Amino acid sequence: MAEKSSVQERAAQDTRSSGAVAGEEGSSPENRLARVRIVLINTTHPGNIGAAARAMKVMGLSSLHLVTPKIFPHAEATARASGADDLLQNAQVHESLDSALAGCPLVLGTSARLRSLPMPMLDARRASEQALEESAAHEVAILFGRERYGLINEEMQRCQYLVNIPSNPAYSSLNLAQAVQIIGYELRVAAIGGAGLSVPPADWEPVDDSQMEGLFGHLEQTLLDIRFLNPKQPKRLMMRLRRLFNRARPDQNEINILRGILKASQDVAERAEKAHE
Ligand code: SAH
Repeated sequence: MAEKSSVQERAAQDTRSSGAVAGEEGSSPENRLARVRIVLINTTHPGNIGAAARAMKVMGLSSLHLVTPKIFPHAEATARASGADDLLQNAQVHESLDSALAGCPLVLGTSARLRSLPMPMLDARRASEQALEESAAHEVAILFGRERYGLINEEMQRCQYLVNIPSNPAYSSLNLAQAVQIIGYELRVAAIGGAGLSVPPADWEPVDDSQMEGLFGHLEQTLLDIRFLNPKQPKRLMMRLRRLFNRARPDQNEINILRGILKASQDVAERAEKAHE
């Protein structure tokens, strides 16, 4: 099927009212961008928060979430935001990553380097296309790490993909706000370029981070109950299983099936335990 040109697409969208989330209107470029959360984790320098807000606003992003910022609000943040201090005022500050990710079925983690446990990686362009494709239907979060050491492993494990901005392998780490700028630019190009962006299938009911965490908690407990998991060494196995399920992107029905299987396994294990006593 031929794609509409981006000019036609935009003209069609301009005739529709903006701001609505439901149906066709939800997939206008501006609405798709509005559903992408930029999540800055544990940022040290308030100036970087301000500069990130500015980087976002020029690209049409508006949803800024701060998880345990070291210093915020601060005059340095406001100064570096320039005219984007409205984003700072509307920024949501969180005590934990959990609440920053609530309601987000797609979580992307930006990283300057590859970790010991390889995760599915996308470059900034592919990641932005994926984010914009999904933000037609639901919220998407993009995580940015601390200035000194980026995202920690536990944070990466909340992500379906890691995102890398191609850079000099010998000097790969961008300034935080500059990384936000590049991702913001790619998101905007994906939004207005209309590179074949589509809406996910209607019967796909994505789940958010809290439901994935619920599944992982239930899975870990079941693996202990059936004595598959060694409680002294749980980390590596759970990391691998998280990666498996994050890659699979189970939807609501599939989560229900999986948790039903876990519950049935726990029941059998419990009966076997009782019969032994
Ligand atoms: N020294 C840290 C880098 C911190 S830079 C480390 O080695 O991990 C601060 C943040 O900017 C990173 O956590 C990441 O979110 C983003 N960032 C910097 N360079 C990046 C790159 N090349 N690709 C993707 N994200 C990058």
